[in-house]
Amino acid sequence: HIHRTPRLRRKFIDFFKEGHEHRVVSSSPVRPRGDPSLLFVNAGMNQFKPILLGCPDPRSEMASYRRVVNSQKCVRAGGKHNDLEDVGKDVYHHTFFEMLGNWSFGDYFKVEACAMAWQLLTEEYGIPADRLYVSYFSGDVANGLPADEETRQIWLSMGVRPDHVLPFGMKDNFWEMGETGPCGPCTEIHYDHVGNRNASSLVNADSPDVVEIWNLVFMQYNREVSGSLRPLPQCSVDTGMGLERLVTILQGKRSNYDTDLFTPLLTAIHQCSKAPAYQGRTGETDVGQVDMAYRVVADHIRTLSVCIADGVYPGMTGAELVLRRILRRAVRFSTEVLQAPEGSLASLVPTVAHILGDAYPELHTESERVSIMDLINQNEAQFLSSLKQGRRVIDRTLSNMDKDLAVFPASVAWSLHRNLGFPLDLIDLMLEEKGKMVDKKEMAVLEDEYERLRSQPEEDDEDRVDQLDLHSLAELQSQGVPHTDDSPKYCYS
Ligand code: ATP
Ligand code: MG
Ligand code: MG
Ligand code: MG
Repeated sequence: HIHRTPRLRRKFIDFFKEGHEHRVVSSSPVRPRGDPSLLFVNAGMNQFKPILLGCPDPRSEMASYRRVVNSQKCVRAGGKHNDLEDVGKDVYHHTFFEMLGNWSFGDYFKVEACAMAWQLLTEEYGIPADRLYVSYFSGDVANGLPADEETRQIWLSMGVRPDHVLPFGMKDNFWEMGETGPCGPCTEIHYDHVGNRNASSLVNADSPDVVEIWNLVFMQYNREVSGSLRPLPQCSVDTGMGLERLVTILQGKRSNYDTDLFTPLLTAIHQCSKAPAYQGRTGETDVGQVDMAYRVVADHIRTLSVCIADGVYPGMTGAELVLRRILRRAVRFSTEVLQAPEGSLASLVPTVAHILGDAYPELHTESERVSIMDLINQNEAQFLSSLKQGRRVIDRTLSNMDKDLAVFPASVAWSLHRNLGFPLDLIDLMLEEKGKMVDKKEMAVLEDEYERLRSQPEEDDEDRVDQLDLHSLAELQSQGVPHTDDSPKYCYS
């Protein structure tokens, strides 16, 4: 049990706290405070943005921070860092994950940051050095940024093999929080799950065999609204390591879903479903579909529990709308692929609380758990009823259509999307079940028109946006569906 998650999480915190004089700061809620540039907290550094920018409230405790360590609840399901589409398909991206991080605010810089990270991984956690690859920033002419030769030299001087030190450009080795905000060149540590080979070509190649684990960012700039980079008042270190990926390595697994952070959830899902047990396979086969559903449901119920506990409820705009979409995806995979009865999703909440509650006590309160479950149940019931309505609309439309016609009218699909809040990918799937597909060209025209009207809200155009809504509403009503209040202003998908 020395490799159980709570011990591994603790070890990270203690290494920096006891061994290197870092102050422990608790995770902030996933709902960003006072930062409209973010939908959700997407990295450990978010709560420290004022320090990085050199303007913390001088009366706050934060103003005195020099070295900090924490384990942060993160959600990446919208905005610049959006991993929603990968979830379930791969075994190392989640919508909710925990990021372990250490910071230096104008204190130590590159040498110490690299040395501590290497010592922790290879000596404390005992990961063999020959399984690790490090990357550094290769520079970027368009942004006027030089290569980070200094970092390359640091790794080499610490004895990392030259063929394990690799240059990459802006996409992988220049970290940015969002469209604006603190940023800088970074160096990342990757792990080869296979070993006994040169795996350098698999680094940053989306391979499940070589996975990025830790990012060390050297915060030196602020990305301004104009797009230009302004040097920050002081240089800082900001690091982030995915706990789930670390645990996977240390528990000797190949998939995050095979660790103690997920297996109790997969078991609980199996108990309430009619599907075969989780096989741990990825792929396009039927087993792959069932396995993917297990992963999606396990991932999404964690995200739903954490977000709702932090006060983000499924709703109609911004982060709330993203959460609503996550809930609906979870319901669909749970009821349709795994054939779990209504109420199953909510019944997983105590298991989430059991796994995460010690680290994040807000999940442990009885009243919190009950209200999370109630909210999930209400939203599930609402969605299942619109799903039924949606099926009716599709069936009626099909019965009025020429049987040989494979193309489904875009106007009806559009109104399902706009008025019943169906994600477009869900409509595609529902039509696929019937051997039909939506008229993509026509759909793109409707979408473009809508976006065009929405992006130029002149007085007249506002009216026309309404008209567009009324048009799709009429389409629905002609199918005998009453208008409900369950219509998002614009649907995230
Ligand atoms: P990737 O390239 O795998 O998408 P990233 O470069 O986007 O990761 P960073 O922004 O550098 O990730 O975040 C720091 C660390 O957080 C990563 O090295 C990884 O261990 C972890 N991480 C990032 N995104 C996720 C996710 N969606 N699920 C789980 N862990 C993640
Ligand atoms: Mg990513
Ligand atoms: Mg990356
Ligand atoms: Mg990264």
